[in-house]
Amino acid sequence: MKVGSSPASERREALTDVLRRARGCVRCAELAATRQNVVFGAGNADADLMFVGEAPGAREDELGLPFVGRAGKLLEQLLGEIGLERADVFIANVLKCRPPSNRDPLPAEIANCSEYLMAQVDLIAPRVICTLGNFATKLLRSDTAGITRVHGRAEVHQIGPRSVRLYPIYHPAAALYTPRMLEVLREDFAGLPALLAQPAPAQPLSEPTLPVLPPSGQDGSTSASTSASPGPDSTELAAESEPGRAPEPGQMELF
Ligand code: SF4
Repeated sequence: MKVGSSPASERREALTDVLRRARGCVRCAELAATRQNVVFGAGNADADLMFVGEAPGAREDELGLPFVGRAGKLLEQLLGEIGLERADVFIANVLKCRPPSNRDPLPAEIANCSEYLMAQVDLIAPRVICTLGNFATKLLRSDTAGITRVHGRAEVHQIGPRSVRLYPIYHPAAALYTPRMLEVLREDFAGLPALLAQPAPAQPLSEPTLPVLPPSGQDGSTSASTSASPGPDSTELAAESEPGRAPEPGQMELF
């Protein structure tokens, strides 16, 4: 069992509940109206290594899976170079829905969606989180320092109730067309095995508990932007859920 967390089976079940909830989420009115799929994240729900990117792109939105385009292929290639594969890690984004025309996430959207990411971190309980690019790095470091300044340097941060080693690196999409950036990304990736070999950081003293998202209608969404709307009501959530039967884990790309 991971230090300071519940058994993997319980955490996985709770993660599936968070996923179901995210699938019905309409906190960001514009994104909810234009998305094809909520891209919750995929991978090993008990991974030691988690990647957090920015937001789904067109292909991810179409398939409902993160990092399935060229940047995803590069991520898989870099993982392979350090002896890992996609099934070893969990991959998620700051936003679970695609911003139209791949525009930058808005601050209110990031605030709306961060609860899902925090629940993912708490339930997966990774020892290392690689933030990919500026948006994930600034959010999880709670700092405005950009990726150029902080990439390749691991720091222990408290994310929600957990202490995690954060390791910011460039977003693979930024390295697709810039050989120098790909070189830096590859150098930073090479630091991951040593980081994963380190013991988990000491956890804050508390009993392990499963995170509970607020009930629908009281979900804490912000209305700081015109793109944000009140949280999902029970009708919307009911429309998303499968009556009487939970989705199979394989359908949700959680394993
Ligand atoms: S908070 Fe916004 S981006 Fe996140 S799942 Fe809900 S509608 Fe999508």
